[in-house]
Amino acid sequence: MFKPYKIKVVEPIKLLSRAEREQKLQEADYNVFRLRAEDTYIDLLTDSGTGAMSHAQWAALMEGDESYAGARSFYRLEQAVKEIFGFRYFMPTHQGRAAEHVLFSTLVKLGDLVPNNMHFDTTRANVLAAGGQPVDLVIEDAYDPSKEHPFKGELETHALEALIKRDGRERIPVIVLTITNNSGGGQPVSLKNIKAVSEIARTHKIPFFLDACRFAENCFFIKEREPGYSKKKPLEIAREIFSLADGMTFSAKKDAIVNIGGILAMNSEELYWRCVQKLILFEGFPTYGGLAGRDLDAIAVGLYEALDEDYLRDRIGQTRYLGERLKAENIPIIEPIGGHAVYIDALRFLPHIPQREFPAQALVIELYREGGIRSVEVGSTMFAKRDEKTGQEIYPKLELVRLAIPRRVYTQEHLDHVVETLREIREQRAKMRGFKLTAGEGPLRHFVACFAPLR
Ligand SMILES: *Cc1c(COP(=O)(O)O)cnc(C)c1O
Repeated sequence: MFKPYKIKVVEPIKLLSRAEREQKLQEADYNVFRLRAEDTYIDLLTDSGTGAMSHAQWAALMEGDESYAGARSFYRLEQAVKEIFGFRYFMPTHQGRAAEHVLFSTLVKLGDLVPNNMHFDTTRANVLAAGGQPVDLVIEDAYDPSKEHPFKGELETHALEALIKRDGRERIPVIVLTITNNSGGGQPVSLKNIKAVSEIARTHKIPFFLDACRFAENCFFIKEREPGYSKKKPLEIAREIFSLADGMTFSAKKDAIVNIGGILAMNSEELYWRCVQKLILFEGFPTYGGLAGRDLDAIAVGLYEALDEDYLRDRIGQTRYLGERLKAENIPIIEPIGGHAVYIDALRFLPHIPQREFPAQALVIELYREGGIRSVEVGSTMFAKRDEKTGQEIYPKLELVRLAIPRRVYTQEHLDHVVETLREIREQRAKMRGFKLTAGEGPLRHFVACFAPLR
């Protein structure tokens, strides 16, 4: 495999002894969010804000102009935003959810509906906080974990038209498309689908926004899979995508390869000035938006690096490498393999642990115990709900363990360690037992929950 970078700065990591790892798990009440990062060997908790910046980004930090108003850093970022995204107006924010907050609290009123292929959790929460109702309209195939589809993140356009017809355009202040679809496994959306959604939005005069966190990865999938795009550069594909939208929210912690930052952009001048009021109140003056000048410079450089084809091939290639190797070891994963993470299907891997005993959480714990690897449960801890009427627990359809790959951080040897750890676990999995939830309530309980091992 061609590697488009070499290592210039290193951070030592260590693998604690098995006894130490066991002790850390106990101290953390078997919730890996409570572990210290320094006690993990390979940290696959998230790909957000965990990427390694390049030498050019570190140099750009030194160029950072820390003026409150009109800093040179702002204008350098503006140039990148204009060239790549093309929107007329933009404002920096401290991260993606802040851009969402400014946009949705400005656009959405009580009782409104916001369609999206699939809402990311902060996006959903921001729509709800503004009094709106999030509506997920992703294609049916997205819910089938083994169904192959080149663009499994697409929005069902018939369902969107039906929604507009049934509830009326007045109740729909914005249509959103998330590229790639994070909650659906990092699955891409085709340009054909983006065009179709854009046309529907235009016909009904509804603003169309992109949740563009992983836009560069989405561009790479279009180049690879969509007829007519194999010769186009990722930047050209990006320009075509964004020319179809009226604006975007963006977390720079993903495809700008920085540790903090976000962007809100739009074409409407009227909307821009309304958002600026909120921005000044919650984030800061429009030429810094909650960030330091140096952060803006690092984003401006990172946006181009994320669109570099060699980088993207390596990035998507790492995720694919891990997924393919796990498949070869008969570890059940969600397919097709997405852009930023590999998801293990815990129900198929641990059929002897019932959902009420948190099989995915059991695997998350075993990954740390066996190999010092931190992953995240996307299953019953996160999504199980109690039925108000019957008092019965309702379990989610999927019980997953997500292995998210930070950008430019780990080598193939690190990924091989993940494969070897899972191979070990596979051999002894019949001995694994479930867990009992001992503390933690509400929709965000996964961050604070405590567990105890079952005998
Ligand atoms: C990460 C993410 C967000 C939120 O961005 P933050 O920078 O974490 O606030 C929104 N939407 C999607 C699709 C994301 O992946």
